Parts: sequence; C-alpha cells; structure tokens
Amino acid sequence: MRVLLVGSGGREHALAVKLRQSPGVTELFIAPGNGGTAEMGQNVPLADSDVAGLAAFARETGVELVVAGPELPLTLGLSDAMAEAGIPCFGPDRFAAGLEGSKAFAKEIMREAGVPTADFRAFTDPAAACAYIEAKGAPLVVKADGLAAGKGVVVAGTVEEAKAAVADMMVKKIFGPAGETVIVEEALSGEEASFLAFCDGERCVPLSACQDHKAAFDGDTGPNTGGMGAYCPAPILPESEYGRMADRVIVPIMRTLAAKGHPFRGVLYAGLMMTDKGPMVLEYNVRFGDPECQPLLMRLRGDLAEILLACATGSLNEAMVGWSRQSAVCVVMAASGYPGNYPKGMEITGIEAAQADPEVTVFQAGTRRDGERLVTSGGRVLGVTALGADLARAKARAYAAVAKIHFDNAVCRSDIGDKGLRREAK
Ligand code: ATP
Repeated sequence: MRVLLVGSGGREHALAVKLRQSPGVTELFIAPGNGGTAEMGQNVPLADSDVAGLAAFARETGVELVVAGPELPLTLGLSDAMAEAGIPCFGPDRFAAGLEGSKAFAKEIMREAGVPTADFRAFTDPAAACAYIEAKGAPLVVKADGLAAGKGVVVAGTVEEAKAAVADMMVKKIFGPAGETVIVEEALSGEEASFLAFCDGERCVPLSACQDHKAAFDGDTGPNTGGMGAYCPAPILPESEYGRMADRVIVPIMRTLAAKGHPFRGVLYAGLMMTDKGPMVLEYNVRFGDPECQPLLMRLRGDLAEILLACATGSLNEAMVGWSRQSAVCVVMAASGYPGNYPKGMEITGIEAAQADPEVTVFQAGTRRDGERLVTSGGRVLGVTALGADLARAKARAYAAVAKIHFDNAVCRSDIGDKGLRREAK
C-alpha cells in the first residue's frame, strides 16, 4: 500500500515510524516531512496547506491511503479532495473538522449532542460580548472562534481582563478573522486530561488516556507552547472508565455528525477538564495531539496502517487495536527561547546513543539534514520517548536518554509525568 502522510512535526515522525512497521506499507511519502521522516520514506516538498497539490500528487502517484497529521489541511478540505479522487483519507471532512476549526461550531455540536461542557455564548458584536461579561462577572474564559495556534484562549480573572481580551480579538483583530466571532464561557477548574478515540464514522475504539504539558516551564508555569511533553496511560482516567467516557464524549459527537451526513473518520480528541461535577469537554481536536501521539504510538500494539485505513473506510474493529501494558513518557527538547524567538541551525548529537536503549525512540520535530549533520530548524526539536514497566521507570528512562543528547541551548521540562506519579502516590 502506498501511503501519503501529511505534516512535518514530531507527531508525523512517530506516525511515519509506526506506519513503516506495517507489513502492508510498500511506499511512504511525507509532505513536507522533516529530518526524521526522511529516514522513514520520501519527503515531498508540498506544504500541508496545499490541498490541491496534495490531491494531485496522491492521484498521480497511486496513493492508496492519505493520513492527515495536523488539523490545518483537514479544515481546508483535504479529506473532501481525497474523497473526490476516490482515495481513502484518515481525517474528517471539512464540515466535521469544524469541531476544531471553529470553537462556536464545536460548542453548538456539543450542545446538540448533549456533551458536558462549560456554559457559553458566542458573539460577533464586541459591545454585546462586553455586556454579557459584565452581567456574568469574572472569572470567565474568552476564546477566539478560529484557529489561533493555541493562543486564542484567555482565562480572565477579572471583568476588565475579559473585556480587554474581547477588544484584542474583535477590535484590534490580533488573530485576524479567527477572532471575528468570540466565545465567552464559564471558567471551570480541575486537572486536564486528553481522551482520544479512533473513529470510522460509526464505531470508535478508545486510546489510552494521556496528559500533556502545555506550559513552557516546570510546575505548569510560563507561556503556553505546542506541548512540552506527554505521558500515558494517565491514572486520572483509569482504563475501566474508557467505555463510559467514550459513551459520554465521543459517541454522541459521532452520532450527531453522522446524522448531518458527515461521519467522523479519523481520530477524535477530547480535551477534558476533570471538575468536581465530573468530566467536562474543553475542546475537540480532529487529529492526534503533538506530543501525545508519540507516547500513544509507542504503546500501540497493532498494525497502524490497517487501523488508519479501517477508520478511513468504515471497517474499524476493536481487535485491530492493542496496547502494551507499559507506560510511555515523551519529553520534548526545545530550543531555548521557544515559544518566543529562538536560534536555529544548531547541530544535534547523541540520538544514536540515546536509542541504544531499545525502549527509547527519539522522534524528530524541528530538525533538518545539513549534509552529514542533523541540525535544529524549529522550536520544538525532539520528542524523546521511552517505555517503562511503570510511569516512574518510563520517566527515568526518558530523562536518561535526554541526558545523552546535545544541541546548544537545549531546554526541556524536568517534571513530565509527575502529575501521574503524584496521583499514583495518593
Ligand atoms: P490547543 O492549543 O490545545 O488547541 P485551544 O487554543 O484550542 O488549545 P482550548 O483547549 O479550548 O484552546 O483552551 C486552551 C486552554 O485554556 C485549556 O487547555 C485550558 O487550560 C484553558 N481553558 C479552556 N477553556 C476553559 C474553561 N472553560 N475554564 C478554564 N480553563 C479553560
């Protein structure tokens, strides 16, 4: 089977490594890929947003399965374009991708499906939004409707802060058209967890619960990033609860979308907050998280290409998906300065030494080949991922591997997995 994987991050390197292990995959193309994916197949110089180019490439090359890594191509209609070309695509159509592309749409679907989520109102008029904020009082959360690279959410402790966020988004338009509509919602509190499920339009199979670490520094401090690490399974949501959680937050969404003629085929990611009143959905993503994908795939026992094709073609079966009993921890090594400005082009050494441990895989994100050398080309550079008999051992292994890798000004958090360890200790 010829597979085209779209994207260029650590998530896509992990998908590429796992797809390469599928006996049915004869050729793997990655568009545009990175230094790591180049070792797994052929990188193709097409941007992830170039839907027409990707569709033409897939047709001309006889691709039999397209796998979407990030959300952008899906919100631009990658899956629809592939459907027109008769090529199965892992990832929902443009309508269903609106779950991630528009927070207002996601909230409406949640309301319709009866999924527990924070109370909210959507606004297109800043004065109306501010009047609502004054009436409700703080704390409140203000969210830009569209994609804003994880920066479009302001948890406001005061009415003034919430109104300033509305002004930034709707009047100053700091996120462009993504902020033309804003959501003002009730502030929830609790620990966060990610719950993902493979979906084939009708059936779903849950993945293990995980926790990511969005803040740049230890103890969840500092600016928000794309994610500085993740681990699974997360004890905050025990495996015995997966079925019930899927019935609560995955199945109703699938039913609602299917009834609208847009069955969800891909991986549906529910970002949960575990509140005193039970789990509430903060957001949906329509793809794997990055870096959650890395530890999840390390634990997957099954033929990834077969699973993704089954999702794309409506033939998913629980028996296809198995999990290692081990825990997995992914520590992101980033360039100092990320998520702000950071240097590029630093030489990376020590990956081989780190991978001498068979339970360690170093997934590459912001890397590129420069002749014989591997150099940094982005903020998040590597996702050092390890398996271990339990969370503590997986963490120790991941950090032992991190210690063997070098590039100038490398930074990482030192507390990936600690939330899970604290919970286990209770
Ligand atoms: P991502 O970068 O994960 O895609 P996003 O920009 O799509 O994020 P959300 O996930 O909706 O936005 O929110 C980002 C973060 O803001 C959440 O992880 C959570 O910490 C916080 N948050 C969102 N909604 C609420 C809420 N109702 N109450 C409290 N905190 C919230």
